Amino acid sequence: MTADFSWIRPDSHGIHVLPADVWIDPSRAVGSALVTHGHADHARGGHEQTVATAETLAIMKLRYATSGGALPVAYGETLRLAGGVDATFFPAGHVLGSAQILLEHAGERVVITGDYKRRPDPTCPPFQPVPCDVFITEATFGLPLFRHPPIGEEVAKLLARLAAEPERCVLVGAYALGKAQRVVAELRRAGHHAPIYLHGAMEKMCRLYEDFGVPLGDLRLVADTPKDALRGSIIICPPSALNDRWSRRLPDPITAMASGWMRVRQRARQRGVELPLVISDHADWDELTATILEVNPAETWITHGREEALLRWHQLNQRRARALALVGYEDEDD
Ligand SMILES: [Zn+2]
Ligand SMILES: [Zn+2]
Repeated sequence: MTADFSWIRPDSHGIHVLPADVWIDPSRAVGSALVTHGHADHARGGHEQTVATAETLAIMKLRYATSGGALPVAYGETLRLAGGVDATFFPAGHVLGSAQILLEHAGERVVITGDYKRRPDPTCPPFQPVPCDVFITEATFGLPLFRHPPIGEEVAKLLARLAAEPERCVLVGAYALGKAQRVVAELRRAGHHAPIYLHGAMEKMCRLYEDFGVPLGDLRLVADTPKDALRGSIIICPPSALNDRWSRRLPDPITAMASGWMRVRQRARQRGVELPLVISDHADWDELTATILEVNPAETWITHGREEALLRWHQLNQRRARALALVGYEDEDD
């Protein structure tokens, strides 16, 4: 095998596609950036030109003061870049607008996943496996101990607790982009149609999801609601607001958090979480390994997360893999 892939270079600041002089998810401002999704560790402001799905561009506009040019690209649409490089965006199933990027050059195919998951998510289209020579994957939960339960079980746990203590409220800490909207959509799917109350910081992103056709039902602001009306209700806030002054005005909240890290008891304790909900927007160990077998690349490159165990798994399965040292990629609360 003589495949070389010298035209694509992982750098500490992102992945540089040399013939086209574009960067994938760069962590500093560049001339031309292709962005997989809107989370802060992948999307930064300040690029002269940003190429991403329309959803991701809208998210970036809302969250970061982006000033340069923006070029929207649809899933499945191929862009011809300089230097004979083609780029095609495919769904990653991570959050609204999230994409994997297929790069083709000189007969070689490289897929950069960004973050992804394989579980169904009513707020975004499912991950699509794309055949390639090099598969550049995340590994946020790349340890065999991370096995996410079905989301239906976690949502049922939340609803049971709410019903058991109707004088209180359940306060769910959830990442403001993706997790919050997914939890709301899954609650609706489970038949919970009562108003869900939001911390002010979640409102705009929820409205953006609705503008892109993801219905979230009756959402209201905590700030507009008298304390007693919040009893027996679900309230969603950013993880940082779980234990701050803001939450003290709520009626005896049961503190919950929706995160893949809730698998680790110590993390739940550190945050003072009474009701840990193991809900993640990242692939768990089984999803990572099953996806690599399904895509069946000649080589896997691992961008961020816990790469040691996944490297070892490749060795045991006689597969080629390498870990890339990229800085600044981490979804702490995801
Ligand atoms: Zn992400
Ligand atoms: Zn990430």
